[in-house]
Amino acid sequence: MKQIEKQIEKQIEKKIIKLRPHHLLCTQGYSGKGYSDDFVVTMDKVTEKLRNDRNAQVEIVFSTDNLCKNCPSKVAEGICESDEKVIRFDNGVIKALDLKEGVYSYQELIARLDQYLISGDEDERLQEICGDCEWYPVSACWKNIKCRKYVF
Ligand code: SF4
Repeated sequence: MKQIEKQIEKQIEKKIIKLRPHHLLCTQGYSGKGYSDDFVVTMDKVTEKLRNDRNAQVEIVFSTDNLCKNCPSKVAEGICESDEKVIRFDNGVIKALDLKEGVYSYQELIARLDQYLISGDEDERLQEICGDCEWYPVSACWKNIKCRKYVF
């Protein structure tokens, strides 16, 4: 097993996973592609945990998180080179859920978020939040959310 995989597994075992708000969407849509090999390994491990553990808890942070940690776009703690875009995505999710920083059940959050998103006209509500994301046409975001694929 690669060193980075071991590190990520240890982090996941010990701690509640830190997630920035729009990563409640990415963790549902992720389809195995990402910004770099290390980022993909991180996404694989984190999504495996969140998609299979019905009791998984997440700490919502309005900043960089456990997924940003191995992303080439992370500039420094709390700073992403795409901040203009990703903070806008975060704000869309914060508004949809009236979200505050803190610890939550991942299941409870995605159940509420997906219900909000599927109550619009097709994917218009998701488009409003992150329709200009480069991964939107690549990943399975709307497809998975629409059928509530990861909601137990
Ligand atoms: S692009 Fe920015 S917000 Fe997205 S994972 Fe990378 S550092 Fe985090």
